[in-house]
Amino acid sequence: MIECPVLTQREQHVLSLVDDDELIEWVQALTRIPSVWRPDEGIGEEAAARWVEARCREIGLHTWFETVTPGRPNVIAATTESPRQTTRPLLLFEGHTDVVTEGPVERWSDPPFSATIRDGRIYGRGANDMKAGLCCALAALKAIRRSGIRLSGDLMLAAVCDEEGEMLGIKHFIAQGWADRVSACVVCEPEENRVCIAQKGVMWVRAVVRGVMAHGAMPLTGVNAAYPLARFLCLTHALEEREIARHGSHALLGQPSITPTILLSPPRGEGEPQNNVMPEAAECVLDLRLIPGQDPGWLSRQLEQMLAACVATDPRLRYEFHVLEVRPPTHTDRAHPLVQALAGAYADLTGQPPIYGGVPGSTDGTILNAQKGIPIVTCGPGDTHIPHHIDEWVSIDEIKLSARLYVLAALRFLGGTDD
Ligand SMILES: [Zn+2]
Repeated sequence: MIECPVLTQREQHVLSLVDDDELIEWVQALTRIPSVWRPDEGIGEEAAARWVEARCREIGLHTWFETVTPGRPNVIAATTESPRQTTRPLLLFEGHTDVVTEGPVERWSDPPFSATIRDGRIYGRGANDMKAGLCCALAALKAIRRSGIRLSGDLMLAAVCDEEGEMLGIKHFIAQGWADRVSACVVCEPEENRVCIAQKGVMWVRAVVRGVMAHGAMPLTGVNAAYPLARFLCLTHALEEREIARHGSHALLGQPSITPTILLSPPRGEGEPQNNVMPEAAECVLDLRLIPGQDPGWLSRQLEQMLAACVATDPRLRYEFHVLEVRPPTHTDRAHPLVQALAGAYADLTGQPPIYGGVPGSTDGTILNAQKGIPIVTCGPGDTHIPHHIDEWVSIDEIKLSARLYVLAALRFLGGTDD
């Protein structure tokens, strides 16, 4: 792999410093730290973050440890002591330390945090999503540091908490100014080493219709909230079809969607459902997945107008409309230097053309792009369908390739001279 003639001697030298045995040991060690957020026990990413911090110190990086909420820290490391003030190009490798719950332990073939190696794979909760990606970034940083080469810019690593929840970690990272000088970001999520240059956006909307509560035997003494909410849902389905017709199918992301995910009457926190009680209110939550070209503000205004029209049939009906979260879609141009660097690295290391991809969900990169306009590329080791599954695994061959992709992408994006 590293004897490839299209690589410069300098590139081959740095690549030769990637230590595969250590990389595999690192993925196993980090997977064995069960960084599931368990709020009742106050246990989260602390131990995993301390492990990442220790590796960063060994590599010789400037390192910062910040508590986001108790038990949930971010680790930031950089080749410069002032990544928040630097005027040089700054390339960020980003990942999260939290993993989702292991689920029923008895259904796992091996204990979920054993990091067992079998058939060229490392098994374990979080091995794929995304401790392998984090360790590949660490391995790339270590190889570059050991080589002693001087880059024309700096490298930064962010290992943040709570990606699987409210993305508190990356939001804190941005609020503390760490993203202010970032030129571009590789999000090291499991994408089978595809070069993912687009990510779907997401918008969550909660709609509540309020009528008048009544006995089920005497419904005319009240006003049923279920029918106007049902009319609203039919209109949202029609809006989805119009949006698909208008925006079509994105080459990498497919179609946009509007999906009702929660339907409740009475709403959360407003009493128990009963067969003979017509509740005062009904609520729904819509999960909108957006592709580039769609406008979240316009969509939310459309939805609110539709909801208002549905309750206009009776003056005793009222509505509440809340936009819970907006994460716009992202797209990074193929001509962007980071995309070029990763795509070229893939071609040179594998002899195959790079595979461009799109991410159907949102990641920390979505927030970096939305809040700071940072160009992001999502690229990392791991089968894309395995995250959150029982018997989660990551391919050792993919890990080895990812670490080298990160090395080459960093060298080519930042440039520099031999030292
Ligand atoms: Zn992830």
